[in-house]
Amino acid sequence: MANNILVVGELEGGAPSPTTLELLGGAQGLAAGGAVSVMLLGAGASGAAAQAAGAAKAFVSDDAAYDTFNGEQWLTAAQSAVEQSGANVVLVAQSVVGREVGPRLASRLNTAVAMDCVSVADAGGTLQFTRPCYGGNALATYTIATSPAIATVRAKSFEPASGGGAGEVVQLAGAGASRVAVLGKEKAEATGLQIQDAKVVVSGGRGLGAPEGFQQIEALASAIGSDKAAVGASRAAVDLGCSPPSQQVGLTGKVVTPDLYIAVAISGASQHMAGCSGSKVIVAVNRDKDANIFSFAKYGIVGDWKAVVPALIEEFKKV
Ligand SMILES: Cc1cc2nc3c(=O)[nH]c(=O)nc-3n(C[C@H](O)[C@H](O)[C@H](O)COP(=O)(O)OP(=O)(O)OC[C@H]3O[C@@H](n4cnc5c(N)ncnc54)[C@H](O)[C@@H]3O)c2cc1C
Repeated sequence: MANNILVVGELEGGAPSPTTLELLGGAQGLAAGGAVSVMLLGAGASGAAAQAAGAAKAFVSDDAAYDTFNGEQWLTAAQSAVEQSGANVVLVAQSVVGREVGPRLASRLNTAVAMDCVSVADAGGTLQFTRPCYGGNALATYTIATSPAIATVRAKSFEPASGGGAGEVVQLAGAGASRVAVLGKEKAEATGLQIQDAKVVVSGGRGLGAPEGFQQIEALASAIGSDKAAVGASRAAVDLGCSPPSQQVGLTGKVVTPDLYIAVAISGASQHMAGCSGSKVIVAVNRDKDANIFSFAKYGIVGDWKAVVPALIEEFKKV
């Protein structure tokens, strides 16, 4: 069945964000002859439409008031874009924007939303939305009987779109009045490669004992390459003050899907695995051979991190 798909896009540095391009890539594959369109809001949105690969049409507003995310204003714009595009499927990133827009849009349009999807697939003309459940220990697949079907989708679930940008640009209204006011913004302390963007994430857990243990994790990440590897942490390690909250992986932290996830002295609690079980390859270092992390790991090293991590650093330095 042909699907008319609207991607609720986000701008980053005046261009469609990497996740927006991934959603457009997914939409290209699922449209089956239907139309793919994108919504872009904020200063420079009209110009960014030309970079929205895979979208035939862009619904835009250049109103800079949209730059600061305000759910009420975005919701009104998204509803208008859905109505004008005739979309029967709406894809939104599982981001700060998507977590609010997805369910509120579903409520407003009297339809359903599948949150935090890791895949959307066409099964004989019916779209199937798959998302982790039970803290990441199982996957649940849904179909949505009402229209439009709305899904928020994790980063890296699709390959980015290819091809030219939107040929047709439709102007949306500027941001209207809102009952919500954003009083201030604080930039999260984060320098260098971010865990959600890194190809390799090296994470440390409570078993490292003290902040000093994290120096070895940093050293391992830099031996792999500071352009490839970033440092993550379990919540227990964050709570101990070993790592900033911005590096927490898991249910209440960030979701990462790197090519390689190295978990050092992390037990593998379901809440942690909810943030990293989508990694392509998991390597675990733990002195407890029965640690839960080994049931997720492709490669496991049973041993004390104090011996294993320096050996790994030496080996990566040779590569
Ligand atoms: C609502 C809720 C949300 C949560 N959200 C998150 C979340 O987002 N992210 C998250 O991580 N957790 C989260 N948690 C907490 C989660 O349940 C676990 O408590 C936490 O993940 C444990 O962290 P850990 O594996 O570092 O510590 P532990 O469970 O204490 O594990 C430490 C591991 O280190 C190993 N170890 C110890 N010493 C060594 C050594 N010398 N060498 C090698 N291995 C060693 C031990 O064998 C053990 O397996 C959440 C909990 C709740 C209730």
